Amino acid sequence: MRLTLIQGDITTQEVDAIVNAANSRMRGGGGVDGAIHAAGGRAILDDCVQRFPHGLPTGQAGWTTAGELPADWVIHVVGPNWNAGQRDPSLLAACYRNALAVADELSAQTMAIPAVSAGIYGWPLEDAARIAVETVRSTPSKVEEARFVLFSKEIHAAFEAAAAE
Ligand code: ADP
Repeated sequence: MRLTLIQGDITTQEVDAIVNAANSRMRGGGGVDGAIHAAGGRAILDDCVQRFPHGLPTGQAGWTTAGELPADWVIHVVGPNWNAGQRDPSLLAACYRNALAVADELSAQTMAIPAVSAGIYGWPLEDAARIAVETVRSTPSKVEEARFVLFSKEIHAAFEAAAAE
């Protein structure tokens, strides 16, 4: 697997699947979740309601259509909320591992991934970057390119540092 890092907006990525940092209600939210629903249109929310009537637990992953986005699928993961006391690193690692497993189910060859839990959920940046890079690198999958799409210069730099370790 090729691991790449870019600074940018995940909603414009031309990949098979993009990962969403969702919340356990699975009905949209702020941050990257809001951006994905806004750009992909109503079809994503409709699919969430149908496929996840009771939401999704922290650490789990599931897929929906990507609506009007260039990608074919959105793989939703629910990151642990550091600010609410969910500070178990294995929950954050599970998000990436489960996202790759869903990508394999979908036969997605390219995927774009944001910095899960590193925004509203408040996970310390360096730690979030290290867990993300280590987990994606060490998880066996058929995905050919895992592209981290980092929204700010600061987050991009943290991921670059983690990848260089
Ligand atoms: P969480 O609630 O899991 O922390 P957020 O969406 O608040 O999720 O933040 C996760 C990361 O996604 C943050 O680094 C944030 O800067 C980033 N982000 C926000 N919008 C986008 C976007 N359009 N593309 C890529 N990353 C984004």
